Amino acid sequence: MYTLDNYDFSGKKALVRVDFNVPLNEKLEITDDTRMKTAVPTLQKILADGGAVILLTHLGRPKGMYDEKMSLRHIIPHLTKLLDRKIQFADDCIGAEAKQLASQLKPGEVLLLENLRFHKEESAGDKEFAHRLAELGDVYVNDAFGTAHRAHASTYTIAGFFPNDKMFGFLVDSEISHIDKALKRAKRPFTAILGGSKVSTKIQIIETLLEKVDNLIIGGGIGYTFIKAMGGDVGDSLVENDHIPVALKVIEKAKQTNVALHFASDCVAVDRMDNDANIDHCFIDKIKKGWQGVDIGIKTATRFAHVIENSKTILWNGPVGVFEMPNFSTGTLRVAMAVAITTDRGAYSLVGGGDTIAAVNKYSLGHKISYISTAGGALLEYLEGKELPTLAAIRRQIF
Ligand code: AMP
Repeated sequence: MYTLDNYDFSGKKALVRVDFNVPLNEKLEITDDTRMKTAVPTLQKILADGGAVILLTHLGRPKGMYDEKMSLRHIIPHLTKLLDRKIQFADDCIGAEAKQLASQLKPGEVLLLENLRFHKEESAGDKEFAHRLAELGDVYVNDAFGTAHRAHASTYTIAGFFPNDKMFGFLVDSEISHIDKALKRAKRPFTAILGGSKVSTKIQIIETLLEKVDNLIIGGGIGYTFIKAMGGDVGDSLVENDHIPVALKVIEKAKQTNVALHFASDCVAVDRMDNDANIDHCFIDKIKKGWQGVDIGIKTATRFAHVIENSKTILWNGPVGVFEMPNFSTGTLRVAMAVAITTDRGAYSLVGGGDTIAAVNKYSLGHKISYISTAGGALLEYLEGKELPTLAAIRRQIF
């Protein structure tokens, strides 16, 4: 299998699927360019080899139709700066103009194609559409980990047209190796911290982690379904009643796999979801009717921190409270600090998911984490142990 490092791009036109799905403000200016910046090393390597780059990406969810607000034209000035060279642009990602610009592309030049999702065939993974994209280049590079769980035309199907000349970009490579390091070569004790709001979206990861970790800390909104399953009174806290049987199964499985499950014992409860609501510090299984738990309590926070600080590998996804509201962010801050301190002492920590990254950045602790994954959904599906379709398409022939 080729890698970026062992492939010579000299004289080749590389179709690079990146994830330039950056947030834009009302003036259509980029408000966070992380996704663009993280793709630069891959593009520089190709250009330095004497190759040309054809960029494939989506922006937003335009539903298969042209939408000026989601045109990739808006990112050209910033991309020009990042790559320090002129960017050519095709108004449509397929068709005569794209074909002509691609065919005239010289070594060291960059061509950006218009938003792939202006065609509904992109999300459908359409083979004919993928073929038209594939015809524009000589080699395919996938550097979009954020969309790695989606079998779209430009992330999955297109790879089938490059039986040999296909590979991962540096970003995807680095995401995979960091996640694998945490999951497959974890030093023990291995502790996973799961929080967030929906048990239904986390249940599979919980089940997978029960076979890998020593400690599983369950905090945040997802904890209340478990507390209720064990007979606790959780008032009006977030509960998914239809997941109570699964919660009980998880508790049973943890006993069999010898995983220490850590739930909150005390919490911060409020009489309404508002930063200035009335607050009650109480046992998590004795929340009054009409009240809901919004953060872990101080005893729990100390206990969780103790478990984290005695770990060698830490995986964290999901805040343990409604951290967006300052009055309920103490527990998440305590967890973030414990992860940071433990990392500082030599443990390996992997943090992922949009809200968790936002929390870590809010406390300025990002640089004290071993690895922050840029991906949300793709990371969770990878952690569940699934082989992501786009990774499979690079590793094997798909048709
Ligand atoms: P998720 O997308 O499932 O990871 O959920 C993240 C969200 O969970 C954040 O916006 C938090 O505010 C929210 N959250 C965390 N703890 C709680 C809680 N106890 N009650 C309600 N929402 C919570």
